[in-house]
This record gives sequence, structure tokens and C-alpha cells, in this order.
Amino acid sequence: MLTEPPTGCKFYMHLLDYQGVGTKVYFFKGHRYIRYDRIDNGIDTGFPIDIENPAIPNQGWPGFRAATPDGRFATKIDAAINNLGDGSVYFFSGDQYLEYDIKDDRVVAATPIDPQIPGRGWPGFKNLGFDRSPTGPTDLYLGDIRTDPFPWDPKIEIWLPGEPKPNMKAPFSSPTDSRQFTGRPWRGVLHTTGMNGTPLQEPSMEGAISEFRVKNRWPHFTVDRRTGIINQHIPINIGARSVRNLTDNNNNVVQSFNADNCVQIEIVGNAINSNTWSSDELNVIKGLMNEIMNRVPIPRQSDRTFLAADQVAANPGNRMSVDEWNEFSGWCGHQHVPSPNDHRDPGAIDISFLLSP
Ligand SMILES: [Zn+2]
Repeated sequence: MLTEPPTGCKFYMHLLDYQGVGTKVYFFKGHRYIRYDRIDNGIDTGFPIDIENPAIPNQGWPGFRAATPDGRFATKIDAAINNLGDGSVYFFSGDQYLEYDIKDDRVVAATPIDPQIPGRGWPGFKNLGFDRSPTGPTDLYLGDIRTDPFPWDPKIEIWLPGEPKPNMKAPFSSPTDSRQFTGRPWRGVLHTTGMNGTPLQEPSMEGAISEFRVKNRWPHFTVDRRTGIINQHIPINIGARSVRNLTDNNNNVVQSFNADNCVQIEIVGNAINSNTWSSDELNVIKGLMNEIMNRVPIPRQSDRTFLAADQVAANPGNRMSVDEWNEFSGWCGHQHVPSPNDHRDPGAIDISFLLSP
């Protein structure tokens, strides 16, 4: 296993990108780079190649040379970072940084690192002397599996250790069952499998899963907070199916909220009394969230109010608009996912506890 960058490489970058190369690590040196495959444990055939060679269109990183008058991003990259969850990778060279849009596969712009203009660049870097040639390793990623063609290559699916268990994998009958992630900011969505219960009865893992089977409403995970049992149904680098998507009058999907880099957990329990769950029970959920955050860059944060289930209908402003959803990154509940979603789960769960370090 490769444990450190090759000689002369000042940094490397691990990128799960839209080419379906979820296992690739990139090493940059001078005007060339190599692409290393963590599963095959070797350098991909044909590398190193030029960062950008005008004689070979569409190879490498097109647009890097033209991004600045001196073409520096094709000859000298000091560092790169791609963990910000906003769909961009940031490359640094000298006193400039280049923003690269992964989803659209294009250069957005090259800009001074700290141009001392409010709201631009990386404020504070200049005062600390980091506005020129910062270097360092990153091993963070942003992206998904390509689901077209379907089925995809199973070796790039991300499952927690021990998952999936027999008969717990969600069936796939078409690419639209679990869509390729869109590249929007990463977020987690919490659900409860029950709402009120009449009379108030604790739902069961088995009951929840049989309902997912019937309705094809699979989450990534179902967790029983009382027994600690966790089942994973879908890899966390493609969409689950537990929230409603935005559709037009003809029922065509306009926006797949499920595919918006959204990792979904169904908690076995009722939304109406989720505020009463013990710290032991919450720790089961928190442990799963931590495992997810170790693998995909969902920030450990939530700026959302988790309302009691019976307060949701009276506070429609607590649900995100589509614009708010598109910008959101962190943890929210099904009660925050934009209309046509109208569910109230997971109720007033103690989100501060779940997100505490
Ligand atoms: Zn839900």
C-alpha cells in the first residue's frame, strides 16, 4: 500500500469525481501528475501525463493553463483542497487560487488568494503570510458513483464494515432507483420510522424494513436505537429513496432531493417522543453519524430547529425552500426537506447531543 507521496510530490489529492473514479488519488509534480488507484494499489496506465497539454484536448485538467496569463496552473500547483462540500476543488499556485467545478468539469476562475476584498478569496490569509505558495497534503473527497451505465462497479461502493448484511441490500431495478449524486453540498437527513403510534407503540426494525420493501422507500441506514442494530441498505455514495423528490405536473423528477449528496438514516422509533430518548439510545445514532462523517464530508453542524412533531404543521417556515436546501450542508430532519415533503419526523430529537464531539 502506498503510504506516502512519491519523491518530489509536495501534496496529493484524493478525489471521488464524476468520472466514476471513486478510488483515485492524484499526485502533482511540476507540470505532470499521476493517478493512483487505492483498490488496484497501483498507478493507472498511461500516467504521468501533463496537467494540461494543448496538443491533447480534453485530457488532464483543461482550462488550467489559460486561467492565468502566465499559465502557472499547468506547471506548478502548490496545494489543493476539495473538502468544502460546495462542489468545487481549490488549487493553489503562488499567490493565486483556482476554483474548479467538479460537477460541470470546468475552471470557474483564478483569483488572488487573499485579495483583501470583503467576501472574496480566503480572508485573513495575507495577514498571516499564507497568501503565497501554501503547501500541504489533503486526503478528502467530494463526489459519487456514476450510475450510468447501470449497474455500476461495486468495488467503488462505500459500505460500513460488515455491511450489507444478507437480504438487507436494497434491490435495484433501474438507474433511477438510486440516482447518481448531483454534487450539491453534503448533508445528512434523519427520519423516524413512526410518527405517533395509536396507541403509542414502539415500531420494529422488521416492520420498518418490510414497509421499505413494499414502497421502495429505502434509506441508506436503518438503526434500532434500543438494540444498537444497524442495517445499511444502499452505499453512501449514491442516493437513497426516503424523501419525496420535486416533480412537475407529469410526475417527472425536476430535482431529486435524494440525490443531492444526501445520506439518510431511518431511526426505529416514533417522532412524537424522540425528545425523551435516553443518552444511551442517542449514542447509538450518534455513533452511526460519526461513522458516516468519517467517510463523506458532511459537516458536524446543523443550523436547523428540530420541532416537536405536533408543531411542524403550524411552522411552515421551518421547512427549507429549495434555494435553502441547495445551499445547506450539515444535518437536518425530514421535517426540513422542501415541499412536496410534508413529513414531521424525526421530531424534537436532541440534535446538539448527536452533533457533540
Ligand atoms: Zn421521514
